[in-house]
Amino acid sequence: MDNLHVRHHFPVFNKQNADMIYFDNAATTQKPRYVIDTISDYYVNHNFNVHRSVYSDAGETTARFEKARQHVAEFINAASPQQIVFTSGTTDSINLIANGYYANHLQAGDEIVVSIAEHHSNLLPWQRLAKKNGATLRFIPLTDDATLDLTAAKKIISDKTKLVAVTWVSNVLGDISPIADLTELAHQHGADILVDGAQAAPELPIDVEKIPMDWLAFSGHKMLAPTGIGILYGKTSLLENMNSPRLGGEMIESVSTTSYKPKELPYRLEAGTPNIEGVIGLDAALLYLEELEMPKVKTHCQKLGQYLYDELDQLDGVTVYGPKLRETGIVAFNVDGIHPHDAATFLDAKHIDVRAGQHCAEPLTHQLGVNATLRASLYIYNTRSECKRLVDSIKEMKEFFHGFN
Ligand code: PMP
Repeated sequence: MDNLHVRHHFPVFNKQNADMIYFDNAATTQKPRYVIDTISDYYVNHNFNVHRSVYSDAGETTARFEKARQHVAEFINAASPQQIVFTSGTTDSINLIANGYYANHLQAGDEIVVSIAEHHSNLLPWQRLAKKNGATLRFIPLTDDATLDLTAAKKIISDKTKLVAVTWVSNVLGDISPIADLTELAHQHGADILVDGAQAAPELPIDVEKIPMDWLAFSGHKMLAPTGIGILYGKTSLLENMNSPRLGGEMIESVSTTSYKPKELPYRLEAGTPNIEGVIGLDAALLYLEELEMPKVKTHCQKLGQYLYDELDQLDGVTVYGPKLRETGIVAFNVDGIHPHDAATFLDAKHIDVRAGQHCAEPLTHQLGVNATLRASLYIYNTRSECKRLVDSIKEMKEFFHGFN
């Protein structure tokens, strides 16, 4: 399955944009007409606040909102929709876990284990919390082919470990971390495991029962849904012991002048009016992905990623990072003697959208021995001919810049 034939579902690739190659899907994906129309229909016909009014219009929107929560639970095979907390994104989910749970459960001398490949949103909350609570942050290194070093992880994760917090798919290198092994390892030592699924959820089938991770965080906007909607999945026993750092309306059973009794899960972790549009758009995006079938999405991204990797790897003066066997649609690379920002500007002139920089993973970029990389991140609507156009443009770019040497 090299081509999913879905491009015509995405209005952005209309006639005006027909020549655009969008290779920045790890930043955010484009939205299919179905998701856009569903959101528009919500605003036109169903724009009522949820969980608070007795009139039936609002009741219908509440039912739809809760159906979406059930849908998310089914999408990741969670036992109960009560384990699904809506947040504003992966960053928000991880901060909620850090400030709402580990702030009260991390003692001096405990250790938090992350990998060197973490996105800043799965690093900074742990840096700050470790400092505040007197805990130590430890890093799983990468192997020579830039994948997570499981042998090293076995030495680093110990009975001192309170939490293992790792990315499932690196948003820079695109490799898949051995989450099943890490989950087993963490549990053997009595530690919890938090999986940053921001780059995994768009590309991989997820089953939290099969891999019994304790926490999972991901973002809607990287999987066809709108921005500003995220998911936090947690084991019930952990969620029950979480205190929402945010307090306010709709999260309480009763309030007096001096105290309050919170609602049951997950509502007590969702203070204030939620992102209803985001939840309804996410519901539509999940349905769209289910129709495509996640195993086929995975195969498409992997095959296309492999094709691009192989084509780039053949070029003299191009360094492609990460393992030769590609598992997802993300390819990070550099062209000798050309700064990634210059390269991205050259490609922009050809209407090829790639990212240049550190991709919110500065320690990883330094680990690769560079200050920045180019990154092409591919998704369901991308094709081989687009990859070929990128490779041809890079050849042209090398000749162009070579002219100045
Ligand atoms: N972790 C990873 C692996 C990511 O790719 C991203 C988004 N690029 C994030 C965390 C943060 O996601 P968001 O900005 O949607 O909160």
